[in-house]
Amino acid sequence: MNVLEATGLEVRYGDLLAVDGVSLTLAEGETLAVLGANGAGKSTLLAALAGTHPPTSGSVLLDGEPVTRVPAYRRVRRGIALVPEGRRIFGSLTVEENLLMGRYPKRPGPWDLRAVYDMFPQVAEMRDRRGGVLSGGQQQAVAIGRALLANPRVLLLDEVSLGLAPTVVTQLYDAVRRITAAGTTALVVEQDLDQALRVADRVQCLLGGRTVLEAPAAGLDREAVADAYFGIT
Ligand code: ATP
Repeated sequence: MNVLEATGLEVRYGDLLAVDGVSLTLAEGETLAVLGANGAGKSTLLAALAGTHPPTSGSVLLDGEPVTRVPAYRRVRRGIALVPEGRRIFGSLTVEENLLMGRYPKRPGPWDLRAVYDMFPQVAEMRDRRGGVLSGGQQQAVAIGRALLANPRVLLLDEVSLGLAPTVVTQLYDAVRRITAAGTTALVVEQDLDQALRVADRVQCLLGGRTVLEAPAAGLDREAVADAYFGIT
């Protein structure tokens, strides 16, 4: 059974159809990369999956159970955790306090503070510092750690690479790979194809809110992806 399955999702902002009939599946332990240019609808798709912006139509199933009308805070409890674009770390709270906020759904599982600190030793060293003094890469690690503490069935990551140096992004995606190797299912939204391919089993390209390409990551035709990005047919 698929961990996550979305069918015919449509999301509107007023008259704008930002997500226009997108379907996707995520099998257990699989990593899907959703690619596309600015404004393609990637973040909006994640919002529909996480429940922060309910779809106008279509359905979302988690482990076969419909969650389409379940509010975001209850979806986290059911096992959908979002690492939001821009990280949203609380600057005045300590690193550890930021991390502990992820624990409130109280889902059982392997991820606790110690496991997160083992995954991100730099974060462990900074545990008593305020979130606001961290570098962008360290904040991104905290955002991933916070989501892991919910012990999610599926982790949704929105543009991990945004504004970060390539070497830092590489380290973060190496961590994501270790997380998925340990059995967590992941959906990675990314604009950087090379970085997405570090973790993805499959890729799905959006353009104007629609899926324009779906392909396995292995042996991916990069030119086809570039064409899909820019709508060249
Ligand atoms: P980006 O990489 O820039 O975040 P994206 O692929 O994630 O791009 P979305 O942010 O999902 O794209 O945006 C899809 C479309 O919806 C765009 O045309 C955008 O301008 C519009 N949009 C996004 N958020 C809102 C909002 N809160 N209100 C109105 N329109 C929005």
